[in-house]
Amino acid sequence: MKDPLDLLDIPSLLTDEEREIQATVARFLADHVRPNLPEWFENAHFPREIAPELGKLGVLGMHLKGYGCAGTEAVAYGLACLELEAADSGFRSFVSVQGSLAMYSIHRYGSEEQKQEWLPRMAAGEAIGCFGLTEPDFGSNPAGMRTRAVRDGEDWILNGAKMWITNGAIADIATVWAATEEGVRGFLVPRGTPGFEAREIKQKLSLRASTTAELSFADVRLPASAQLPEARGLGAPLSCLNEARFGILFGAVGAARDCLQTALAYGGERIQFDRPISGFQLTQQKFADMAVSLNNAALLAVHLGRLKEQGRIRPEQVSVGKLNNVREAIAIARECRTILGANGISLDYSPLRHANNLESVLTYEGTSEIHTLVIGQALTGIPAYR
Ligand SMILES: Cc1cc2nc3c(=O)[nH]c(=O)nc-3n(C[C@H](O)[C@H](O)[C@H](O)COP(=O)(O)OP(=O)(O)OC[C@H]3O[C@@H](n4cnc5c(N)ncnc54)[C@H](O)[C@@H]3O)c2cc1C
Repeated sequence: MKDPLDLLDIPSLLTDEEREIQATVARFLADHVRPNLPEWFENAHFPREIAPELGKLGVLGMHLKGYGCAGTEAVAYGLACLELEAADSGFRSFVSVQGSLAMYSIHRYGSEEQKQEWLPRMAAGEAIGCFGLTEPDFGSNPAGMRTRAVRDGEDWILNGAKMWITNGAIADIATVWAATEEGVRGFLVPRGTPGFEAREIKQKLSLRASTTAELSFADVRLPASAQLPEARGLGAPLSCLNEARFGILFGAVGAARDCLQTALAYGGERIQFDRPISGFQLTQQKFADMAVSLNNAALLAVHLGRLKEQGRIRPEQVSVGKLNNVREAIAIARECRTILGANGISLDYSPLRHANNLESVLTYEGTSEIHTLVIGQALTGIPAYR
């Protein structure tokens, strides 16, 4: 049956294989995730045991080649992220951090031994990874990081703290970025390494079905083999973030679509003044404006995906996608909440859960302000953020 929200026939831009992957991921989420989301969100619970299921589904490190990864193209990976975030941003965050940050950092910058040791298990969801860049005092400006690694003979000694780290408390392996005498370097720190602790951050109002932690490192001794040999300078972690942002610009479309589907269904059934609220012109204006921006966001995502597949996507283009699609998605989520009236504040309906989640998505992987300034720099040649 034709989806009324698909005003522009966007599936015609996709291959049969891409549509099949999207449908497979959507079916998995409908069976295993969606029915439990209100409870997981309310109880601030991420079900760690779902990781091997996601591994079997092939979405962990999905766009990476070899080492047990599915090796799909960019748009297929984006569509998986879209469906994951249509369920909940927490699940898309789990998959983004595992595949685009933790696994990508090893795949792109790791030694052959590191790849062999971690990537197949991470692709299968048997080992969970996290990615520690942000610190309590350095978020948008990671160049100021205080976490430091110094050499001690062949070993490294790591000291410092990382903040707001997705999967941090459940991770088997942490990619940690630290300042050294030779500039920023990346290190793989396994769970249980003496001096390394992860503490869950409680009382979040957003991304509650996702786990977020503070990491601390007190004289953590690491062998030389823990260093990511190919990662030199801040460009390395920033390149990983660029990968993850790509998943976000698709994911946001999914969250927005889920809100609109929910509001359309509700508006058709909710009767006020003896008629469905969808029949009021003000409601239809909301629906029309939201559907236009949803379809524009989806077109943008597919276009950027094709550029990525051709190997010619530029960072400021990813910023355009992340800025626009998250901004539009959060506006849609809030507007849909108004259509649901008081029911809109209940976890029985998804829009406010999505809106709350999207507050985090607006901030992480580069805030909307920083992406605005990246675009500003591309337009003017002047970097206004420093
Ligand atoms: C749920 C969640 C999960 C996260 N997961 C991870 C993770 O897995 N790994 C990780 O490393 N980090 C993670 N983060 C951290 C995230 O990347 C940072 O929060 C983000 O980079 C912003 O940093 P900050 O929170 O310190 O805000 P700040 O940098 O302090 O910014 C505060 C405000 O100031 C604005 N601002 C800052 N500098 C400028 C400027 N030059 N011009 C204009 N405005 C400016 C910002 O845009 C923002 O509005 C996560 C965050 C959240 C909320």
